[in-house]
Amino acid sequence: MSLPLPEPAEIDRAVQAAHKTMLATEGGRNADYIPFLASVPSELAGAAVVTRDGAVHEAGDSRYAFAIESISKVATLALVLETIGADAVREKIGTSPTGLPFNSVMALELHDDKPLSPLVNAGAIATASLVPGASADARWAAILDMQSRLCGRELALSDEVNRSEQTTNFHNRAIAWLLYSAGTCYSDPMEALDIYTRQCSTLLTAVDLATMGATLASGGVNPVTGARVVSAENVPHILAEMMMEGLYTSSGEFAYTVGLPGKSGVGGGVLAVAPGRLALAGFAPPLDPAGNSVRGLQAVSAIAKGLRLNIFEA
Ligand code: GLU
Repeated sequence: MSLPLPEPAEIDRAVQAAHKTMLATEGGRNADYIPFLASVPSELAGAAVVTRDGAVHEAGDSRYAFAIESISKVATLALVLETIGADAVREKIGTSPTGLPFNSVMALELHDDKPLSPLVNAGAIATASLVPGASADARWAAILDMQSRLCGRELALSDEVNRSEQTTNFHNRAIAWLLYSAGTCYSDPMEALDIYTRQCSTLLTAVDLATMGATLASGGVNPVTGARVVSAENVPHILAEMMMEGLYTSSGEFAYTVGLPGKSGVGGGVLAVAPGRLALAGFAPPLDPAGNSVRGLQAVSAIAKGLRLNIFEA
């Protein structure tokens, strides 16, 4: 049974209203542990919805290109599910939430050095180490290609973001070596980290982000390009991971209050997916203490509630 889509005018109203609320809200701080992110104008605010029909609804700074950061973990997970399969991902990385911050070392200590989730840094570095390819550049090209196909547009690495991250990612280096020593990094650890850091450094817009989500909402077919990007059987695995671990330590709160699989990044992007229907994205740089964009989260929550998208509602 196909779920009904809200009327286009209703979606437009919800997106415009959410953007208005974003403009009236303050709070949060840009991430500053990556120097580039501290320099992005804090007042930017955009929202977008892309439906399973490929219709785009947007408001505000919805075409401003920002750093994808942690949302890249969704694309690399999709790539690795497609190439090595869901059972191998479960066995080598794990599938459960850690209950701890995204870059937690303690999470590894507590779980026998298994990352558990592909959506935390340890699991994402391990996932990057599983991308097939003859060289680091070939593996990076496969990741960029997956990001681009999900968004329906050629994305590109920002040298500025990448440089800013590569020269400050000491904590992630420690995580990569810990994984390696435990046998849960499946390539050279510094190569895996390099690829992971590059994957965080591409630029995309709120419209791109909503398109990425709409591809997942449409069972793996990008509704804008019409191309199949992810096989239908892998989409539920990705959405389940997003539901459990997509919004850092606020994931449970987001499931309880909004009821959608989501993913955020410290670049200020927030994505949520209403399976079978549409995806919604918010972007605004200042973050709450958990690492989620204050206004991005607000926009996504408001649109989801306005359009009654909670998947747990009958
Ligand atoms: N590149 C960032 C890091 O690894 C991404 C973190 C995030 O967005 O959660 O720390």
